[in-house]
Amino acid sequence: MINYTEHLWQLMSDICLRVPRLSFLDMNRVLVFARAGRADREGPYATCHCVCLPPSEPGYYFWRDQTTGMLTRRSEWFVTKSPVVRVGSAQIDYMISFTLPRFCDQRRVSARKRARYPGHPDWMGKLDTIVHELYHIDPEQPGIRRIERADGLPSSKSHSPGFFEDVVQMVTQYLTSNPDPAKLEFLRHDFAGLTATYGGVTATTFKSYPSYPRRYIEVLAPQPDVPSHDCPIESLDLPRVKTHFTELDLVTRRFWADTRRTLPRKGKFRAA
Ligand SMILES: [Zn+2]
Repeated sequence: MINYTEHLWQLMSDICLRVPRLSFLDMNRVLVFARAGRADREGPYATCHCVCLPPSEPGYYFWRDQTTGMLTRRSEWFVTKSPVVRVGSAQIDYMISFTLPRFCDQRRVSARKRARYPGHPDWMGKLDTIVHELYHIDPEQPGIRRIERADGLPSSKSHSPGFFEDVVQMVTQYLTSNPDPAKLEFLRHDFAGLTATYGGVTATTFKSYPSYPRRYIEVLAPQPDVPSHDCPIESLDLPRVKTHFTELDLVTRRFWADTRRTLPRKGKFRAA
């Protein structure tokens, strides 16, 4: 069987070695995992998750009276925090999730994407997605790369026409750097092709599949001693969430064309 996320991680490591603009990335601090998603449904092929953002500024939810504008009640003070993810001795800063089998089955590549790679096979769309997600990692500060508007001010968007053009340039740069074709071989197959060639597809997932580490809310204790609006305070009824993850929380799981059949396989996650 082919471990798809391991192949993606190896390819991404090779891309970071060969594409100068991505050379700042330490792939030991990037975890690649899989989520389930059907090929015939709308949804992302891949997503870049930042788990190294500092806690947010303290805040609270509040409710106002519509006519007077006065606060009628507010919640306790809280902060939003990133989960801590460690694999072996490495602190993970970013996680990139790939949706299987959807990512493998990018056969019906959008016309826009195809136009970016005229005359190239459809699997180039997958390489485009991989570089796209890596390019989301900000080289300057923890977080997702900020896009600048034409006037140099930060944009609220995370994509711009320039972003897509940069990705095409980096994909081309990688392919012309004479990479080992064996590193790209797995991208040539769709999900059925992978199953036929390798006997099945496995990938790293979290034990809590389909959930995975996300930012969470923590009530400040003690509550800040600031003169506040004189209104009732409601306690936050927060679900108990896991906030620290290690390699012991990762399992290799087999993926199927029918996403309802994703069962865990015996086997621990192997840190690369
Ligand atoms: Zn994106």
